[in-house]
Amino acid sequence: MSDCIFCKIIKGDIPANKVYEDQDMVAFHDAFPAAETHVLVVPKKHIDSLNHLQEEDAELIAKISLAIPKLAETLGLEGYKTLVNTGKAGGQSVFHLHYHILGGKFLKKDALQNT
Ligand code: AMP
Repeated sequence: MSDCIFCKIIKGDIPANKVYEDQDMVAFHDAFPAAETHVLVVPKKHIDSLNHLQEEDAELIAKISLAIPKLAETLGLEGYKTLVNTGKAGGQSVFHLHYHILGGKFLKKDALQNT
């Protein structure tokens, strides 16, 4: 999607501090971290949100679910929170599906609340 910021990161049109990439997904540090470690895992396929998933996306979502613990280990996280905001009322601000991985000390008290 041409006006999607995460699609632009995936295409390499705007920079991001990437920590992982394969054919299905990319992971990069959040530009405005809410925790000491705050990484976003983003499917390369543009999907607006969890509400827009199709049956055909099942394998992709399974791959992301399996990649998250490996990524967390690479990031040195013993434990972490995984968060997906869905819809404006659910706190979503970028409408390209993404999984937040949050580890270490939280930097914002409202990190898990809607804004
Ligand atoms: P959400 O509010 O769940 O849609 O999360 C969007 C996240 O994307 C926020 O935590 C933002 O800080 C983050 N974000 C926005 N623009 C960028 C960017 N250019 N690079 C990295 N993270 C970004």
